[in-house]
Amino acid sequence: MSQTLSIGRFAPSPSGPLHFGSLLAAVASFMQAKHQGGKWLVRIEDIDPPREVAGASDTILQQLDRHGLHWDDSVIYQSTQIARFFELLEDLTAQQVIYHCDCTRQRLNLLNGIYDSKCHKLNHSKDNTSVRLSIKDSLKLIGSKNDNINFCDRIMGNYFQSLTQEVGDFVLRRRDGLISYQLAVVIDDHLQGITEIIRGADLIDSTPRQILLQQCLGYKTPIYGHIPLAMNNLGQKLSKQHHAKQLPQKNEQQQVWLALDWLKQNPPLELRNSSVKEIIDWGISHWELSKIPDSKKGFDAPDHLK
Ligand code: GLU
Repeated sequence: MSQTLSIGRFAPSPSGPLHFGSLLAAVASFMQAKHQGGKWLVRIEDIDPPREVAGASDTILQQLDRHGLHWDDSVIYQSTQIARFFELLEDLTAQQVIYHCDCTRQRLNLLNGIYDSKCHKLNHSKDNTSVRLSIKDSLKLIGSKNDNINFCDRIMGNYFQSLTQEVGDFVLRRRDGLISYQLAVVIDDHLQGITEIIRGADLIDSTPRQILLQQCLGYKTPIYGHIPLAMNNLGQKLSKQHHAKQLPQKNEQQQVWLALDWLKQNPPLELRNSSVKEIIDWGISHWELSKIPDSKKGFDAPDHLK
């Protein structure tokens, strides 16, 4: 029996340059694909212009290149796929699993993030409304009575979420007309034939929503693995919002070594000053996903990279 080619991806949003936390997701997804002789794709998730920082996409690609993380095929920019996202939104409309919602931000804030389906069946017009996926109607479409989505995460283990109680009907197209991350990511992962998604643990609670959407659209669910988060001194995840440091433009080989070490791959000390290529090659041949700890709390990033 022929084995399917493993296709992994790194899908940064161009909201700033890479920091150590994003390097970990890039290294882990790269190693997981390359260790299996597969492909590693890069997709720039640039569908939220208000959050985009000018020049960040190019900076990210240069950073990946300097860290020896060379991608296969051409880079996909999500902004070029918008027409396709709207087509698939139309398909979901035809399946009667979406509805328009005109709830104000103030009302939504009172709901603590779990939408109560108030606008379901109110038949609001398309104007000045967001589009939500109805969980109830989606379950009907896929022939399931159970709103609990569970999947086996390759790093974190079994993960369960009740979509009704923990998420509620969620947005696929925002009121300002922008397509949501949840819909775009599911469509592009499918179109790019991604088989394994390795990314940060901050996205694990989005995964059940993405699995439901895959089922509604008739897509296969890829394998998921969520890596623990790198933390700053205040115990916050490294992120642009928390002013994470941009990866310094020197000693890239040490940064890759530190990423492998942080991911508990035990790279030998003497490898630390080797070339980027030697460290990457060592990582590809010695990679073991099962060595990554399943910590939900995360670990400190190296001091000079926080
Ligand atoms: N674009 C997302 C981010 O930069 C990651 C999406 C994903 O890996 O699914 O946080």
